[in-house]
Amino acid sequence: MPANKRLLMLPGDGIGPEVMHEVRRVIDWMDRRRAVTFDIAEDAVGGAAIDAIGMPIAEKTVEAAKAADAVLFGSVGGPKWDGLGFDMRPEIAILTLRRELGLFANLRPAVVLDPLVDASTLKPEVVRGLDLMIVRESTGGLYFGEPRGIEELPDGQQRGVNTEVYATGEIERVARVAFELARKRQGRVCSVEKANVMESGLLWRRVVTALHEREFADIGLTHMYADNCAMQLVRNPRQFDVIVTTNLFGDLLSDLASMLTGSLGMLPSATLGAPDTSGRRHALYEPIHGSAPDIAGKGVANPLGQLLSFAMLLRFSFDMAEDADLIERACTNVLASGLRTADVMAPNCAKVGTQVMGEAVLRELDKLAA
Ligand code: NAD
Repeated sequence: MPANKRLLMLPGDGIGPEVMHEVRRVIDWMDRRRAVTFDIAEDAVGGAAIDAIGMPIAEKTVEAAKAADAVLFGSVGGPKWDGLGFDMRPEIAILTLRRELGLFANLRPAVVLDPLVDASTLKPEVVRGLDLMIVRESTGGLYFGEPRGIEELPDGQQRGVNTEVYATGEIERVARVAFELARKRQGRVCSVEKANVMESGLLWRRVVTALHEREFADIGLTHMYADNCAMQLVRNPRQFDVIVTTNLFGDLLSDLASMLTGSLGMLPSATLGAPDTSGRRHALYEPIHGSAPDIAGKGVANPLGQLLSFAMLLRFSFDMAEDADLIERACTNVLASGLRTADVMAPNCAKVGTQVMGEAVLRELDKLAA
């Protein structure tokens, strides 16, 4: 198979390079055992780029991301760079990539793997088998709307302002991602806003409903207010298949949903842009955890969130569902065998570090592909 799958790897800071190393080993395995070759480029971002070139991301890195078929991101940040000004924060790297690649749909799966059912703070009978996907609009809404700022009032007080604003096209494109995903899953979308108290929410509901009638009548569509959704996620999370929501509500609800699974180090995410005429879309994949400075360099980080982000990349950017399934099954089987990194340690399990976990996944891949 020709080397035509262009992949840009951006490990970043802290545990980022440690967990990315385990992805490299899986890629080598795929090359050897599955005859799949990637055309790989790698670059520094975040604090690593600040140290190397004096800014969080180089222009050439942004260009490389635009040219790539998919970007696999690690994590950025750490105390070393905390005192720098707003423009020099390591996080600027990810914000720049989101903006420059037009990544507007953030996908956060919340899956409870059977071996980790006890890691949730909720009862096993509530979360067992949970498999939901939150699609969060990520370039509009309250975090970007104008007017915004802090202003001085004549009476000496100050006033902080942010604006929730959505145009039809912004709502349609993220809802389309959700409906298309649902078609490949259980065929159900729940659209979440506060149409009862917010005009932008009312428009959101109308636009999603119209798109559904026009193009996705085969998918089940329900609407829910965001406050009720937060409650339902804790009460009965398995009622959901795909949730689509605004930037603000998605921020809160996806964090809530991730804790249903009980393990930050396990969770992948994707952020997608609009497809071009050939159907190709920019996409960036990253674990939801940060650079974990408290454990960086100790070799104890859980690599599974990064590996599962790579599996998501194979599924969504390269249409390689079979390989994605293999990696996901290998991760589940390793956990079921009782090997655990410290973050997901449980009674009667064996505590291992990043590399041993990665090697166990490779061994499991060998078995599954035999
Ligand atoms: P964090 O996710 O880095 O860590 C929170 C806790 O979870 C820590 O105790 C950490 O040790 C643990 N943890 C995280 N990932 C783990 C893994 N794979 N295996 C085992 N344990 C893991 O969040 P934080 O401490 O709030 O932030 C640390 C730094 O990361 C900050 O500089 C922050 O800005 C940055 N950050 C970056 C991203 C990103 O790059 N997308 C996201 C979140 C935070």
